[in-house]
Amino acid sequence: MRLVKQTGLCLFIVWFGLLGIGVVNGGEAAREAAFAGLSSETATAAGRSIVTENLAAGEGNLTLLNQLADSSTEVVQASDKVKPIVYLTFDDGPSEKTKQVLAILKREGVKGTFFMLGKEVKRYPTIAKQVVQEGHAIGNHSYDHVYAELYSSFGTFAKQIMDTDDAIYKAIGVRTNLVRAPGGTFGNFDQGYFDALAKAGYIVNDWNVDSGDSTRLNVPAKEIISTVEGSRLSSKVVVLMHDSSIHGESVKALPEVIAFFKKKGYQFAVLSDQVKPIQFRLAESIKWKRPKVTEAELQTLVQYMARTRTIVEAPNQQSLVVHAGDYEIDFAPADYRMSNGTIEVPLRQLVTGLTGIIRLDVSNGIVEAMVNNQSVSWTAAEVGGSGLSFPSRVMVPLRDTLQQFNYRISKITITTDKREIWADSISI
Ligand SMILES: [Zn+2]
Repeated sequence: MRLVKQTGLCLFIVWFGLLGIGVVNGGEAAREAAFAGLSSETATAAGRSIVTENLAAGEGNLTLLNQLADSSTEVVQASDKVKPIVYLTFDDGPSEKTKQVLAILKREGVKGTFFMLGKEVKRYPTIAKQVVQEGHAIGNHSYDHVYAELYSSFGTFAKQIMDTDDAIYKAIGVRTNLVRAPGGTFGNFDQGYFDALAKAGYIVNDWNVDSGDSTRLNVPAKEIISTVEGSRLSSKVVVLMHDSSIHGESVKALPEVIAFFKKKGYQFAVLSDQVKPIQFRLAESIKWKRPKVTEAELQTLVQYMARTRTIVEAPNQQSLVVHAGDYEIDFAPADYRMSNGTIEVPLRQLVTGLTGIIRLDVSNGIVEAMVNNQSVSWTAAEVGGSGLSFPSRVMVPLRDTLQQFNYRISKITITTDKREIWADSISI
């Protein structure tokens, strides 16, 4: 292992010497405009989410280790090196407070996940859009948050989820599969709710650290901070906070909450389809009297998802050539894909093409890539009950990933036989 690490270090020094070669041409606006035709903002493309395909059931860790390992790849059991992860989540927005939350997150260089209410998205569509544009993830938190309706029948719950899904799509142009149950699942969900949502393709996320900002009205910021600081922390923390007009104290507490996790060495990430959700255990008895989920209710939701998630993708006709600084990487038509206007490429091929290094933390399900002196990490999904399985092939959005490695796309050309993209290194 030591030898492998040294190889990595040498490579690191080699590309360190190559830094600064790229010259930035043209203005930011010109570069954005150049790419506008090929890219659209999507929730999954924002930030660090991984797009996966061909989940290798039963193949386990070795599959990805083998696929990623080659002479330019460092593979370590880096559990001691990889930082614990915190997912900050904000429920009940968007609201008149959201802009303040966004400003703090931007200042701190941190991304969060916003579980939105359909009716608030309808009220504040521009703010909802801004959340996604600034790289945060979003989830579905029902339409109106009224417990007695949501938990009196699954049909009502499902309708609110679909209405919110549509409201988000109308306002922002993206759909999210993430759901957070108002009040959390404990005592509200039965197995039928869990099963129906999972069958339809929604991913239900509870939390494991409650900031306590909603235990009563106007919980003081100080108390929110001390509640978070006094919580039992694991290597994967999902913090529940709120974003609504009555949660000014949460906004006040946020900078210190962030500072606390930074001090503890946590890295901040956003929830996605690829992050295994925290879910409360099933309560022995629920708080509500209601009928069982019916087959018709289930089918309505399943068909809604099938209808709204279908992406018609034409196979690529052209190969893709990426010129990043002095490097040239060729992707065959089958090796990359266009999804919702975003180009996705295999992470391994991109990183090795840029003479970077990939590290795997098998035990925590984290892939870390270092390119152009920039280290970026992703969490991989935990699949199955017997330990971690990595996806057989990790696809990442090209533009966002290049940006994270300090490359900016400056030019794109498309001919009948190839798509070519030029990106400049903007490293210092
Ligand atoms: Zn809520």
